[in-house]
Amino acid sequence: MQCSQCTNESAAELKYSSIFLCKHHFISLFEKRIRHTIRQNKLLRHDDRIAVGLSGGKDSSVLLKILSELTKKVRKTSIFAVTIDEGISGYSDFVVETSSALCEEMGVEHHVFSFRNEIGMTLDELADKMKNFEKQPPVCSYCGVLRRNLLNIKARELGATKLAIGHNLDDECQAMLMNLIRGDLNRITRMGTLVGVIRNEKFVPKIKPLRECPEDEIRLYANLNEIKFNSLKCSYAQQSFRSTIRKALNDIEEKHPGSKFQLLKSTDELIPVLREAHKIEELPNKCKICGELASGEVCKFCELLQKIKN
Ligand code: SF4
Ligand code: ZN
Repeated sequence: MQCSQCTNESAAELKYSSIFLCKHHFISLFEKRIRHTIRQNKLLRHDDRIAVGLSGGKDSSVLLKILSELTKKVRKTSIFAVTIDEGISGYSDFVVETSSALCEEMGVEHHVFSFRNEIGMTLDELADKMKNFEKQPPVCSYCGVLRRNLLNIKARELGATKLAIGHNLDDECQAMLMNLIRGDLNRITRMGTLVGVIRNEKFVPKIKPLRECPEDEIRLYANLNEIKFNSLKCSYAQQSFRSTIRKALNDIEEKHPGSKFQLLKSTDELIPVLREAHKIEELPNKCKICGELASGEVCKFCELLQKIKN
């Protein structure tokens, strides 16, 4: 097929807007969309020090490329990457390797922190301990809390003013559906492109510049730009509720192109309404164990660690 904007052969079909684009026009639209997301939501300031949560997968690798190019143009802005090594056999070593290679290629400062050093055990060891729990939660629920917490702490310690994560359109739609199904409306109030409603020195505001980018377009962008990314799947991923939701959403999108964009739009309209209705749960407490932010006496991170160690 021919590109809808020139006579070149198309490299992408965007079903939701019924167009075909050649490599040049696809890349240009993709980058324009991200710059628009950043501008519209005031994600960056000219003097930001940005930490990028890098897993070496397509999303965070593309994010690192785009942000490192953008920041080169702004003298006072700086960027570095943080990788968390969860300690998952057959997976984590590759994550660290791909991330390091990418940072070296792009000339970006890179920091790696491991579950083993920071919490005293790998995720594999933790998953093993969880087998003794009466009710076994999915490994991902632990991994997610521990990783998010570490990323925030390390980004803050390294002087970041923003923490950029590679959440894409699909991730946001999945999160929205999961929260709705679980009836966790409070969590929806914490969604958005800039997560940091709670102003607190302990919390590095999180930004999601890829939030309006469909997952398959990120993969295509990475391939067209020859960005080497890791496409290995973590062995625990199958267990997650998220993978069921992902399949359902992809099925809906296939039959009704544009559904994901519509869901994101509805989400963004709903967030302020819910924030108003829920009066946003503040996190004024400091965890009595680690001193990080907590909604109760002990933060989620320490609560999990206590449970594991007991
Ligand atoms: Fe952690 Fe689950 Fe992601 Fe694996 S799939 S890295 S266990 S959150
Ligand atoms: Zn704590």
